Amino acid sequence: THSSPHQFGPAPRRSTRQVSIGGIQVGGSAPVVVQSMTNTDTADVASTTKQVAELWRAGSELVRITVNNAESAAAVPRIVDKLAMMGIAVPLIGDFHYNGHTLLANEPACAEALAKYRINPGNVGFGKKRDTQFAQLIEFAIQYSKPVRIGANWGSLDQSLAAMLMDENALRAEPWDAGRVMREALIRSALDSAHRAVEIGLPADRIVLSAKVSGVQELVAVYRDLATRSDFALHLGLTEAGIGSKGIVASSAALAVLMQEGIGDTIRISLTPEPGASRTQEVIVAQELLQTMGLRAFTPMVTACPGCGRTTSEFFQELAGVVQNHVRAKMPEWKISHPGAENMTLAVMGCIVNGPGESRHANIGISLPGTGETPAAPVFVDGEKTVTLRGDNIAHEFVALIDEYVDR
Ligand code: SF4
Repeated sequence: THSSPHQFGPAPRRSTRQVSIGGIQVGGSAPVVVQSMTNTDTADVASTTKQVAELWRAGSELVRITVNNAESAAAVPRIVDKLAMMGIAVPLIGDFHYNGHTLLANEPACAEALAKYRINPGNVGFGKKRDTQFAQLIEFAIQYSKPVRIGANWGSLDQSLAAMLMDENALRAEPWDAGRVMREALIRSALDSAHRAVEIGLPADRIVLSAKVSGVQELVAVYRDLATRSDFALHLGLTEAGIGSKGIVASSAALAVLMQEGIGDTIRISLTPEPGASRTQEVIVAQELLQTMGLRAFTPMVTACPGCGRTTSEFFQELAGVVQNHVRAKMPEWKISHPGAENMTLAVMGCIVNGPGESRHANIGISLPGTGETPAAPVFVDGEKTVTLRGDNIAHEFVALIDEYVDR
């Protein structure tokens, strides 16, 4: 699936089985789906419902919640009901570790209300219990007609499998490469568990796979390998990506390389939010990653120059922010009233050097006056200069022109 260095744009998507998750299609010919995860205590119905709603409003097409104890399992159907009363039908994925088999057995309403179960093969149980408890989880998925994600994770690798592969490596007397052995253990953990689920009776088109690590190069290597060894739909994500810009850059770097090669059917950007930052940031980053790569469109893209010594005031940066926030806030309404608005491009530029040229390339763009320039801001619509704005009301007038453009 690797793209040719001469090819423009992403390689064709890898062909996978398509999985329906509460009506959202993942894999096959479906567009890459954005998902996220709450960080509230699931047993706190009000907080979790509120955060799921925020993530959904930001554009998360699937939302995962942890189901870690009896209280949280009991809360799940209540959360789904509350969301339905708010007109929100986002599929919820239950994240299970260690005790999922018991929780699903004791809370049939939870088993029913969830749209998918996430099973971590490294955290299902130990020894013989592992196989029994894994089988129980899969049997619940069969009984309730739910898809599952078999999500292996570097931080919770199946230790018996890792030990077995190390022994095999030693027996073959191959040069010791702990990284390669561990990557193989992660991939095998995901693939072997998926094949076991199929043997138990879960259809292969109800399985999504993931094998997450926290290093960019390791993640690329693991998924390239996984993609050649099965046709299961793949969930991409860099685990424990980090805080703020580090997490955004690392996730974007890894996921962009893979998606450029046609690998990946659903993505989650795992960010540790900076204090006070909204959880919805991970959804915005996921959408912007897909949109800047030309894979999907969610919100009009704003091109803005970085500003420099030629920029006369802070006003230019402010205007870029005002425009970005305006189109983001209007998009849910435009999605219904003006479908296609998400494909619009905007430009906010700081001076005459690149301003008019970049503004002409956008559907609607503005070039603000730089140092020594006439205090006038020409506006370009579909490549033609249409009006020049002046004075203190430029931001308001430009936003009104954007709304008029969308209405037209
Ligand atoms: Fe500086 Fe003008 Fe370039 Fe913006 S367009 S970065 S203000 S030279």
